[in-house]
Amino acid sequence: MTTPSSPSIGAQLAAEIDARRDDLVALTQDLIRIPTVNPPGNNYREVCDYLAKRLKKSGYTVEMIRAEGAVGDIDKYPRWNLVARREGKAPGETVHFNSHHDVVEVGRGWTFDPFGGELRDGRIYGRGTCDMKGGLATSIVAAEAFAAVVPDYRGAIEISGTADEETGGYGGVAYLAEKGYFSPERVQHVIIPEPLNKDRICLGHRGVWWAEIETFGRIAHGSMPFLGDSAIRHMAAVLRQFEDVLYPALSLKHTAMPVVPPGARQSTMNINSVHGGQAEPEGGYTGFPAPVVAHSARIVIDRRYLIEESPAAVRQEVIDLLERLKSERTGFSYEIRDLWTIPPTMTDREAPVVRSVAKAIGAVMGVSPEYVVSPGTYDQKHIDRIGRLKNCIAYGPGILDLAHQPDEWVGVDDMLDSAKVMALTLLDLLGPAR
Ligand SMILES: [Zn+2]
Repeated sequence: MTTPSSPSIGAQLAAEIDARRDDLVALTQDLIRIPTVNPPGNNYREVCDYLAKRLKKSGYTVEMIRAEGAVGDIDKYPRWNLVARREGKAPGETVHFNSHHDVVEVGRGWTFDPFGGELRDGRIYGRGTCDMKGGLATSIVAAEAFAAVVPDYRGAIEISGTADEETGGYGGVAYLAEKGYFSPERVQHVIIPEPLNKDRICLGHRGVWWAEIETFGRIAHGSMPFLGDSAIRHMAAVLRQFEDVLYPALSLKHTAMPVVPPGARQSTMNINSVHGGQAEPEGGYTGFPAPVVAHSARIVIDRRYLIEESPAAVRQEVIDLLERLKSERTGFSYEIRDLWTIPPTMTDREAPVVRSVAKAIGAVMGVSPEYVVSPGTYDQKHIDRIGRLKNCIAYGPGILDLAHQPDEWVGVDDMLDSAKVMALTLLDLLGPAR
């Protein structure tokens, strides 16, 4: 029963979170001031130590896990992860908030100190404020406020700070998933507070296929190219096929996935690089290039595909073009090497964590959430595929477009609103039977 003199639990949670505004700002600033730039993966231990201290004080049991043997883990740059768990007072489910603690390089164009965490006009500025230390701090404060207002909750809350999301997550969530940290027996709901905007629920992401294609030629003197065979001209024929055939075909493949921005609601492909002929000279070389016909040319393609496409068909589409060139073009030969494949993933809109967060967004902001899908992948791929957990979304404060930009920022009011959504979600999923 609620009476005017005893505000509803929702109102108590909101008041508790508003009262923690300064703490939320300070926590975000502290995290920004530990520069966890990746690559190479600086200060991972320091950020995990900081989080461990904070969460132990709040009643969490903390595990520090180094991703020994994972891609990128070396003694100079160890891949440290933190998983913290706070048990409730009765059996129940586990809600896990997963944030990556690494940030991308600074780049040019900053007017703020990228690791200063300056607060100005309600925004905190710095590398990683938006993507995604602001989200990490928000989930911590939301969980602390929830435990203060609802000390007799059921189940457990978990918070993780994980490495290497920006470089594929193999020293982070993928490693933890392989060790069982995201198995459905241990964790039932996962929220990844990536900056998708406070009123949007991100259900998943498109698929990825990266491959390297190499064409071959025969080296000869550049003054007599007819005595050789140019791998670069063969590669030019590949690129012409892409322009004339592949790109028009990709633009016709549309998806029912609500990908944002809408330009990514179709199949896309980027050509990451073109290399051919003579290698780049070493720095300091001041001479001319030598006249030679290129015996090799390589490109790396980054194909993003839709839930309606199969990875085999995506690959075959490119192979078909290459095979056609092989049959039509004298001297054409190629190799293709698969570099990386991640299938698309999309959590059902009726999944429990989606319904619960949607309800909370409605209660806090008075709107229905927008359901979106990310054009690129994030750590949900490992939770889904290795962890086998389908009840996973990205939800967090921050404006997606600001990620990786100069003068990246996160709004304090947005973090508070998101924290209220997260706390209400915990109440919905772990609240005691009353
Ligand atoms: Zn991120």
